[in-house]
Amino acid sequence: TITAGVLALQGAFLEHLVLLKRAANYLQQHEGVKAPFEFIEVRNAEQLARSDALIIPGGESTTISFVAAQSGLLEPLREFVKVSRKPTWGTCAGLILLAEAANATKKGGQELIGGLDVRVHRNYFGRQIESFHADLDLPFLKAGDSTSGAPFPGIFIRAPVVEKILPSVDGIQKAEEQTAGTVVAPSKTAKDEQARSAMSSRVEIMGKLPGRLNKAAAVGAEVDAGDDVGDIIAVKQGNVFGTSFHPELTSDIRIHVWWLRQVLDSVGDRDGVR
Ligand code: GLN
Repeated sequence: TITAGVLALQGAFLEHLVLLKRAANYLQQHEGVKAPFEFIEVRNAEQLARSDALIIPGGESTTISFVAAQSGLLEPLREFVKVSRKPTWGTCAGLILLAEAANATKKGGQELIGGLDVRVHRNYFGRQIESFHADLDLPFLKAGDSTSGAPFPGIFIRAPVVEKILPSVDGIQKAEEQTAGTVVAPSKTAKDEQARSAMSSRVEIMGKLPGRLNKAAAVGAEVDAGDDVGDIIAVKQGNVFGTSFHPELTSDIRIHVWWLRQVLDSVGDRDGVR
């Protein structure tokens, strides 16, 4: 059995579980995947340890981080993502928690899990009332998908943006990030970080919001947005994947299907022989 957990401390975890079940059915019916899936809510270290992969949902990153700290889950989560390197996907608040650096808001920062060598800007697109839908062209969805071609319905609610790809996250680079107004994920020692950095893959830009003037660039933030202008709203680095938007609030299972394929690849078992 392949067990995928959804961190269930706060936020849209039930919605993820619904889409994961539908995505697993799709893989079993249309792609001949035999491996049985089990989906669980993760609220403690024991449930996390049972999980082969994890989703961190949208919600409020400060609250999720606070509750995780109270439940003694922050360190186990860091181990899961950065040492065991199990597939982990964060949506919106989840992306913030998986970033190595984030801007602090007026109320202060929160403790990050880290794993993605990026700096995110929280609430980048504005307040709740400025939430919006946008059709997204996500190239990674186009391979091997019967519904390919249709844009993905992106839902952005007080969403973060990836405003900078960090060139490397050795102790030195992170120290530079640690300026006023920025929170960074802790590293035990610079050596640990160097080891992680040496092993880790590059950050891949998986999606951009088309046709938007890059606001971060306009306000003078350093932006490595690739070749064309557009806000970075999906990134992947090895086992860690993050989206600014909320696929769990749609009925579109494509990203969940894609992610479960990544999970199957990482577990190395499509045929249920494990
Ligand atoms: N702005 C929220 C935060 O900082 C995230 C919003 C969301 O997940 N919809 O956590």
